[in-house]
Amino acid sequence: MPQDKLFALLEQKKGEMFAHRRWLHQHPELSYQETQTSQYILSHYQGKDARVESGIGGNGVKVTIDSGKPGKTLALRADFDALPVAEETGLPFASQNEGVMHACGHDAHTAYLLTLADCLMELKDELKGKVVIIHQPAEEMPPGGASLMMRDGVLNGVDNVLGCHVMSQMDYGSICYHVGATQQARARFTIRVQGKGGHGSSPHEANDAIVIASHLVVSLQTIISRRLNPFEPGVITIGSFDGKGQFNIIKDAVELEGDVRCMSEYTKKLMEEEVRKVCQGLATAYSCQIDLDYKNDYPVLMNDEKLTLLAVDAIRGAQIPGVHHVLDCGPLPPSEDFAYYTQALPCCFFYVGARPAGQSFPHHHPQFDINEDSMLLAAKAMGAVTLRYMDEQK
Ligand code: MN
Repeated sequence: MPQDKLFALLEQKKGEMFAHRRWLHQHPELSYQETQTSQYILSHYQGKDARVESGIGGNGVKVTIDSGKPGKTLALRADFDALPVAEETGLPFASQNEGVMHACGHDAHTAYLLTLADCLMELKDELKGKVVIIHQPAEEMPPGGASLMMRDGVLNGVDNVLGCHVMSQMDYGSICYHVGATQQARARFTIRVQGKGGHGSSPHEANDAIVIASHLVVSLQTIISRRLNPFEPGVITIGSFDGKGQFNIIKDAVELEGDVRCMSEYTKKLMEEEVRKVCQGLATAYSCQIDLDYKNDYPVLMNDEKLTLLAVDAIRGAQIPGVHHVLDCGPLPPSEDFAYYTQALPCCFFYVGARPAGQSFPHHHPQFDINEDSMLLAAKAMGAVTLRYMDEQK
């Protein structure tokens, strides 16, 4: 059975997988600056039996493993950028780059995929079609490595894309999935309210930007409560309100920054239109200038039903030691740039429980850590789905 061989190989190479993760964890790099990480990945494939293309979408690497037999092409994607977080884990392999940390587990993604790629190259005779390995930079920051790699043609010849994320707050031993809209779309905006400054004693001679901006904050929330279908989720957060001044001086201008999330492209468009209307309406009502800079970024992550159910069936059928539950976790709030692949092709993105022993911390936290054994489960799950996917093409 190819799967038994694959799992045995992965077990054999577990030490290498952990070593990759620890090296990557020690050497984190911010989005769009991951040159050393990209070099590390490239050197891993040097002299191996695969076609390697570098510099795709910046620091991205595409590796093609060709079985030489007919069949479809399945891409496996792992991201490799880190975050501007000062690590506080106290791990022996903690970050050596001050203020930068692998606080989302992208080190684990890259480590398991480097090792899984090795195994697939060794088992090439057992495969059909092609496997493409996408080592993707810059997941954490728009425009995102996925869209840039796609612009550079990373999906040329690819039929489907598969990815997974280790989750520090999901129990180790569980693998979770959801069909359809699974992670939120995101937009961000900056609003500048230009009123007229003045003395606190004479509001009639001024135009108070703080009062106008306060109305704006409240009005924007009514988009959620009064404009959205109650069965359609949406979130608007004003995360910054630049109102510092003097107690007796009327503020002339205020700048706001906000974040928008939702679960459908329809709502995404509606919310943008409504934010624009609120700004225009309040500018008229208060005789001031309101400038809006609105930027859409990651779309909704849409998991393809057929591919996701194939993945779930393959993972269940693989009876991976240590995997106790394979369950539908419902949609998840964070945005993820894997969503761009899902706009282009039928894709599946699933979640591997990685809660460490003892206290666990959320993603992006300075004490974020994972149960490293989850990498082996991720590799086996992705491997099992890859083999099943190829089997379906008989
Ligand atoms: Mn992530």
